[in-house]
Amino acid sequence: MTSSKCALCDSKLRFMKMKFDGGYVCKKCYAIVSRNFTETIVKKKYDELLSYYEDYKRNRTNLGEFEISKKIADLMLVDYKNKKICLPNNRRMYGSDSHPEIFGFSEIFKFELKENNKIIDINRFKSDKKIKDKNEIVNELEIIVFTDRIENIKKSIKILTSPVRKSSFAYRRSIEFATEIIGELDKALSS
Ligand SMILES: [Zn+2]
Repeated sequence: MTSSKCALCDSKLRFMKMKFDGGYVCKKCYAIVSRNFTETIVKKKYDELLSYYEDYKRNRTNLGEFEISKKIADLMLVDYKNKKICLPNNRRMYGSDSHPEIFGFSEIFKFELKENNKIIDINRFKSDKKIKDKNEIVNELEIIVFTDRIENIKKSIKILTSPVRKSSFAYRRSIEFATEIIGELDKALSS
């Protein structure tokens, strides 16, 4: 590994090069491995950067086949044409090395709505939107999507991950997102 070439893509390093623990990467690769300049790489090792970089490249190929017909916040994207959903797994909610994931409608076989880790009856949820117990605190609101992929059977769409009161705007907005996601999943299941 010489310092005149990018350790990841092998392109010649120009004026802009970024140091990691063991070498340098070019500006383009830096954008990728720093997750759009949101993380530093100075202390990261080559293996770690390479595995992230390769993973990113693989996922990009998938993402290219995805047409966004509908976007529900940064929680779920839908492609009606290719009959797919994309879960962005955004860092804000998941806080880890997750990448966007794409599932075909036909790979989804059911879903559940959970509040504070308790399953909510979806039919009741749909028919009664009035919020009761306004002072109650909700720590977690998520939709669990069950897929028939062995390695990915349960996917959580985290809508709310920090405590809010039921009377809050944040909670009401989360309920709106949940309603939209459920509507899309219903459509996907019946297509
Ligand atoms: Zn590079």
